[in-house]
Amino acid sequence: MDRRRHSQSEAGSDVSTYKQFLQRKNLLKAVPAEDDPSFRRYTLVLDLDETLVHFEHRRMVYKVRPLCMKFLTDMAKLYEIVIFTAAHQTYANFILDKLDQDGSLIQHRLYRQHTTQIKGAFIKDLNRLGRPLERTLIIDNLKENFSRQKENGIECGTWKGSVHDR
Ligand SMILES: [Mg+2]
Repeated sequence: MDRRRHSQSEAGSDVSTYKQFLQRKNLLKAVPAEDDPSFRRYTLVLDLDETLVHFEHRRMVYKVRPLCMKFLTDMAKLYEIVIFTAAHQTYANFILDKLDQDGSLIQHRLYRQHTTQIKGAFIKDLNRLGRPLERTLIIDNLKENFSRQKENGIECGTWKGSVHDR
């Protein structure tokens, strides 16, 4: 019995390791085939906090950056949209489910567990997306987050709730 339990546990850890390997290799599972027209699309990777929204911890409410919804709607016509946040998945999904209620704007969501943590920073390594880097762009309010692919990144202003932001 003990022996059987031991072998089951070994098998379980093998599966887990392989799954982690696949996730490390390519985070976005729905990679279009090369003959699919969407393969030619550019991928726009967007940060969440202080880029699209701001969460007020004291009141436990979030605010959406002015023109954020217009930006997302316009960009979704041109790009495959991926949200890549260093936030925890439960919190991020709470916000993203509100922003993209019918799931038509955002194709993929990546969270803290998909970042590479180095000295307290949460690096968003675009290589892990499995998309061609020459057709991938990231917008984030912290440039260190895209320090692995500086040439692919645009640093936007940090937004903390001002209604005058444009
Ligand atoms: Mg941010």
